[in-house]
Amino acid sequence: MKAFTYQRARTPAEAAAAAVSHPGARFVAGGTNLLDLMKLEIETPPHLIDINHLGLDRIEAAPGGGLRIGALVRNVDLAANMAVRRDYPVLAGALLAGASAQLRNKATTAGNLLQRTRCPYFYDPDQPCNKRVPGSGCSAIGGYNRNHAIVGTSEACIATHPSDMAVAMQLLDAGVETVRADGATRVIPIADFYRLPGKTPHIEHALHSGELITAVTLPPPLGGYQTYRKVRDRASYAFAPVSVAAVVQRDGSGRVALGGVAHKPRRTAAADAALPRGARAAVDSLLAGATPTQQNAFKIPLVQRTLEAVLADARKGQA
Ligand code: SF4
Repeated sequence: MKAFTYQRARTPAEAAAAAVSHPGARFVAGGTNLLDLMKLEIETPPHLIDINHLGLDRIEAAPGGGLRIGALVRNVDLAANMAVRRDYPVLAGALLAGASAQLRNKATTAGNLLQRTRCPYFYDPDQPCNKRVPGSGCSAIGGYNRNHAIVGTSEACIATHPSDMAVAMQLLDAGVETVRADGATRVIPIADFYRLPGKTPHIEHALHSGELITAVTLPPPLGGYQTYRKVRDRASYAFAPVSVAAVVQRDGSGRVALGGVAHKPRRTAAADAALPRGARAAVDSLLAGATPTQQNAFKIPLVQRTLEAVLADARKGQA
């Protein structure tokens, strides 16, 4: 691990200012992804800004009937929160499907959103990877790519986003609240938060340098049948080849989002509109233009079958 300096920030504005005055600095809270990346020297921040003591660990009712989730709320606490379990069960389900109990105890809401891909070549400094070293090439294209993306890919990168929670947040139209060093705040709709890889797969989200996530907001509850179904190679502590988050109302209308298939959670307005016509119609939109590899073409029928199962469960749950 490379040497680094450390500071404990006292306020969100102080943390954001410290990030600006220390180019290359990183915020650290749970550290469940960052510390691994530092040990492998994939991330080599010269300065760490500890944000654990900023008081951003509350879950509060938001004006208008939604929920405001502090950036430092631990995944375990968010999944167990009564308002989340009652009003946003798809979010609770996604959180409990992620990682392991030990990791959920440490991982935070903001950190979960910002975790990096689990593409094995990204974690191997001996292999070319455009996301780790821009312009070096992509070892997954033509390499081992069973778990990689099938839609929204580019010639530079075919990685997936690993977060389960982010898929539920995309489904729920969450907003990402931030603060900058000058004290300016904004809310980034989650639909605009993540980027597709394009030619710059190392740029993954809309945050500016030094911009700190302070909270994630949820609109008022949607009701309906909500579920997060994750298909994986083992029952725990595994990333999703495919996952489906859905809200289905009694009349068959609803929303659907996918994990494990793209560089960011996958959701389209056309798929939501097509949901009453069934899984096939929704998947046709969600996976339009898919370019799977030989190794991961199985994800297309797997998405189809998983959404069919979710819709069948929704019908049973509402019977
Ligand atoms: Fe790197 Fe992306 Fe290629 Fe994986 S898929 S090797 S993260 S450029």
